[in-house]
Amino acid sequence: MEESEYRILRERMVVEQLIPRGIHSERVLSAFKKVPRHAFIPELESDNTYGDFPLPIGEGQTISQPYMVALMSELLELKKDEKVLEIGTGSGYQAAILAELAGKVYSVERFENLAKSAERILEKLGYQNIKIKIGDGTLGWDEYAPYDGIIVTAGAPEIPKSLLEQLAEGGRLIIPVGGHYSQMLTLVRNVKGKFKTLDICGCIFVPLVGKEAWSK
Ligand code: SAH
Repeated sequence: MEESEYRILRERMVVEQLIPRGIHSERVLSAFKKVPRHAFIPELESDNTYGDFPLPIGEGQTISQPYMVALMSELLELKKDEKVLEIGTGSGYQAAILAELAGKVYSVERFENLAKSAERILEKLGYQNIKIKIGDGTLGWDEYAPYDGIIVTAGAPEIPKSLLEQLAEGGRLIIPVGGHYSQMLTLVRNVKGKFKTLDICGCIFVPLVGKEAWSK
């Protein structure tokens, strides 16, 4: 497929999947029009890359449905000079979207293969404001804390304490919380050191596996 055809698919994704469901941030919508989602998805699935569903990316993991990526990104309310931490790099697609919205993106992935592949793709696309680490993201990434935004793209049994500790005052944390097979997308705000929690909607993510989450 030609780049111009992909551009049409992206435009259509925004108009058909995101706007009608209430995504309205111009910055988020432009990021979705710009980032080539197909570049992050394995060959095998290349016909489906802009479809309204999640897709496999290897290691039993998935890239989220575009709408879920957009919703979480919008809820983070990132400004262009802010610092954001992502837990669960996966394909690297969400990290690229975040890199369009924030100043600096830190992303942690537990599978070496996925982290390496994401890093390669992001480098090829020219992103210079994303740093990826292989490790257990339930512990956050202390070195660069605190973060204005933290996004967890895997489901947790509860909110990892380390992530709350690394959230700046005024910062936003978005995380799916609940059981192994379904969760509640949860938004936490650090308001002058107090955490205010808001339930957003039901969702389904792969499990967050680590010290402060599931053991497998
Ligand atoms: N944001 C990704 C979606 C990835 S799916 C994208 O845009 O493609 C969730 C990812 O979280 C998986 O890659 C999984 O390996 C990773 N993950 C699960 N538990 C983790 C942990 N404790 N630390 C870091 N990554 C984790």
